[in-house]
Amino acid sequence: MEISGRTAIAGVIGHPVSHSLSPVIHNAGFASLGIDWAYVAFDVAPDRTREALEAMRTLGIRGLSVTMPHKTDMARLADTVSPSSARLASVNTLTLEVDGRIRGDSTDGDGLVSSLRSTGIEVADRRIVILGAGGAARSVVDALVRHDAERVIIVNRTWSAARTAADLETRRCDAVAADDRDAVGGAVADADLVINATSVGMNHSPEDPSGSPIDVALLTSRHVVVDLVYHPLETALLRAAAQRGCTTVNGLGMLIHQAALQQEIWTGHFPDVAAMTAAATAALASPGGR
Ligand code: NAP
Repeated sequence: MEISGRTAIAGVIGHPVSHSLSPVIHNAGFASLGIDWAYVAFDVAPDRTREALEAMRTLGIRGLSVTMPHKTDMARLADTVSPSSARLASVNTLTLEVDGRIRGDSTDGDGLVSSLRSTGIEVADRRIVILGAGGAARSVVDALVRHDAERVIIVNRTWSAARTAADLETRRCDAVAADDRDAVGGAVADADLVINATSVGMNHSPEDPSGSPIDVALLTSRHVVVDLVYHPLETALLRAAAQRGCTTVNGLGMLIHQAALQQEIWTGHFPDVAAMTAAATAALASPGGR
């Protein structure tokens, strides 16, 4: 790809962000579309989100992915936000519109649902336990409900955050405190899918069971276990779940599918997910990986 004066720029803002896989994934997506776009990473300190938004407008940056810890701030600061992002108070996608306004969307939840679908797993009519109640968890809960999950139980260390996430859809969601062992055990026993949306397991050896957000003895071979964490690709939860005969899904597919949905928002075209996956897999396998 040749950068010229006409190349459109997109990027990711986060802190830290230097190890992000997003540049590799997005540049592979733009290349698959044959369009003159390039994607870079910007490290933005937690107290500089407003300035980052102004820089996007001033520099004409066409799209930004938003990662930790800026998702909540951007839901507040963007000029307009999609109705679901407003409800979730979480934005992972910023788009510079032709009139100069910046719109916020969230593709995290739909990215997970698309990624599961690509591996043959449907969420409709399924009973699901989701561990965590942060920005990613809320986006996933919203998407699970829109895609007709039968029941979603949100388990979180901080009960009030679990309650807030469950209040997104009170008819089909409920909240459980992570330290209520009986309620957690009952919810998992009743579930088809268990999804980790906490950051527990991130940058943690899969060998070390303390990197699992749940007592793995609760899992049986009828569970599908999904981890949003993608560093490492095989988390302590996924390793233990596989050993117990569960079907496991790592977080890379969600990362790629939410990025593909971002490119569709920015460019109007859906990129080649297989090309993005190949680029991410090669980057992870390269010496020094991510
Ligand atoms: P967040 O808003 O900061 O939420 C973090 C969540 O993890 C909260 O529910 C928090 O519980 C819980 N948590 C943190 N440390 C914990 C601990 N020691 N024990 C129990 N619970 C703990 O973060 P987020 O944006 O939702 O991201 C969550 C994870 O999803 C991250 O690992 C992120 O990398 C991953 N993610 C992956 C993708 C993907 O495409 N694969 C996309 C988005 C996010 P409290 O409420 O009690 O603090």
